[in-house]
Amino acid sequence: MCSADLSDRALLITFQTRSNSLAWTIESVCNPEFGRGTEKMLHRVTAVLAVSALMGACCASVNAQPSGRKVVVISLDAFGAESLSDPQLPAPTLHKLMKMGAYATSMKPINPTVTWPNHTAMVSGVNASRHHVIVNGLIVNQRTDTPPKIEPHTPRSELVAVPTVYDAAHKAGLVTAEVDWVAIEKADGITWRFTEYSDSHGPIERDLVQQGAMTEEQLAHFNNPSQAWRDRIYTLAAVDIIKKHHPDLMLLHLLALDSIEHETGFGNDSGRNTIAFLDDRVKDVIDAVREAGDLDRTTFLIVSDHGQMSVHKHLNANLLLRQSGLQGASSANPTFAIPEGGFALLYQKHATEQSTAALKTLFTAKPGVRAALSPAEAAKDGWPTPAETNQAPDLLLYAENGYAFSGKADQFAVDAKESGAHGYPNTEPLMKEIFIAAGAGIENKGEIGEFNNVDIAPTIARLLNVPLPNVDGKPLTEILSAK
Ligand SMILES: [Zn+2]
Repeated sequence: MCSADLSDRALLITFQTRSNSLAWTIESVCNPEFGRGTEKMLHRVTAVLAVSALMGACCASVNAQPSGRKVVVISLDAFGAESLSDPQLPAPTLHKLMKMGAYATSMKPINPTVTWPNHTAMVSGVNASRHHVIVNGLIVNQRTDTPPKIEPHTPRSELVAVPTVYDAAHKAGLVTAEVDWVAIEKADGITWRFTEYSDSHGPIERDLVQQGAMTEEQLAHFNNPSQAWRDRIYTLAAVDIIKKHHPDLMLLHLLALDSIEHETGFGNDSGRNTIAFLDDRVKDVIDAVREAGDLDRTTFLIVSDHGQMSVHKHLNANLLLRQSGLQGASSANPTFAIPEGGFALLYQKHATEQSTAALKTLFTAKPGVRAALSPAEAAKDGWPTPAETNQAPDLLLYAENGYAFSGKADQFAVDAKESGAHGYPNTEPLMKEIFIAAGAGIENKGEIGEFNNVDIAPTIARLLNVPLPNVDGKPLTEILSAK
């Protein structure tokens, strides 16, 4: 929101950061009176420069001090890199950030290309072979006589096997926040939160009810309304936290694009309209940071967790397992599949080298099956093995493009109305993610080449100046300013 009466504080911020394009440009665009009140501003600037010099002297002598910078990460679920390359995309805020800072031609997800594994990769700096999150929750009841399930309500300490950048920030005394982030339930490293399902007693939820953003009734039935409604509330929650609590690290996750693309497929006007809606939500967050007085020291990272692909055929792996006598009371080695769109996970009660080889033969060359991979083969693409975690499957199936594993088909492969899916290998162009960085600490680099999303966590750690050792990724030094 553009304020007509820009405060002295905002003018001061503008002056301080004019060489750093984000604050200067946003303020000058928003405020037609930019430049007035210069005399008053100069008095304030003199005082601030003196304080800055003192701070510089202080920080130079204590290297481990946090940087004083703030980082806001906004994940726009399922926003594929290909969409961002469309010059007609109705995304003025994203385009402005791209022009001011740096953006990648694409960012490479980890395998599997689904939500929780990739969000976890972006905050931990390691892939699934080390963080062990391979679906949207914890897989339970696998390798038994009955089908496995995915349990999303699992504490982060049981789900994620490694430290994260929010843990590091919290340990360094920084204020951390998450709104609708994933694989983060009850995380000790989070100071302020508004969870995916909301908590009717949570302080941020109470704030939003008090502000009139939602009613008690809407809070009590938070999952009933549309995803776009929830994304608006998630954004308002982030705005509330930013203005009231000035977090040093904010993780915000919005899902509307993933939701509409799953329903309608990739690359249509429903998706484009949703991107316009999400672009406005990004603007809301930037405006909140400005109104909080934190714009001059905030870095914005806009990312996604995977892309999306249109599919017209569904595959039912459990049906084939049933037909092959591998399920039911008479089976000596009950075997079940968890269908996940672009892939399916197979678990056997008693996996041996021979039984896994037989299972592989059963699925190889079936219509719509791209590959059936043993644990050793999947490990080459960054998957964990059953020896490392009980989450890892005994056999991994990948679907061909245009096919998705689901539980819906009444034959192994059936035609279906167009819908969207992800989970295909991370080398597929449509699975690639977006990355945009702008604001404090980011050079105006324009387009940069593809990099791995495990570089996000060490980049955040570098921006905040908190330690995050022993990760696979590395900071994106080519876009970070020296100061
Ligand atoms: Zn996702």
